Amino acid sequence: MARYTAPVCRLCRAEGIKLFLKGERCNTPKCAISRRNYRPGQHGQARIKPTEYSLRLREKQKARRFYGIGEKQFANYYQFASRKTGVTGEALLRLLERRLDNVVVRLGFAGSRAQGRQLVSHGHILIERNGVKRRVDIPSFLVRVGDVIAVFESSRDMVKQLIAAGGTAVRIPNWLMSDPEALTGKVLAEPAREEIDSPIKEQLIVEYYSR
Ligand code: SF4
Repeated sequence: MARYTAPVCRLCRAEGIKLFLKGERCNTPKCAISRRNYRPGQHGQARIKPTEYSLRLREKQKARRFYGIGEKQFANYYQFASRKTGVTGEALLRLLERRLDNVVVRLGFAGSRAQGRQLVSHGHILIERNGVKRRVDIPSFLVRVGDVIAVFESSRDMVKQLIAAGGTAVRIPNWLMSDPEALTGKVLAEPAREEIDSPIKEQLIVEYYSR
């Protein structure tokens, strides 16, 4: 995925919504959405009537940016979700939620998906599946029901410092169980739609790809 290196607050401003890309800062008055809630750029404050197409495009971009996923990979997720039984939009969100970098955030081990991604790709996370423990350094790894997620023993002090620096209590969704002392978590169930608090209207994404 081509790395986005410009300031991430611009992404929130472009979508007009908090995407929580900067961890604790997002909950403070320093948040750029609180201070300048208009699109970035020279014509950011101009009134533009959104078209039907742009509404759907923006929703897709919002989801992509929220989960930190590239264009191609996101389209692959959509293709995969569309082959599943049930509502495609919900299947898509469930897939995105099961990504390991997202799960690390949901468990409260990281303050943002970028930080979660770094924890995973730098090899700080272990997965126990079917009694076998292994280090997983792939942020897009999809967790399954029964998987145990743990922070590597030598990384625990570092992760505890990160959590302490973040300072906010996270709400652990019902499909996960977290032990913040031991820095472990478990996947109890598939994420249900009502458990996913991402600010995304998935039906618009389905309509974007179905055009
Ligand atoms: Fe978005 Fe967080 Fe920046 Fe606010 S502080 S604009 S929520 S990334």
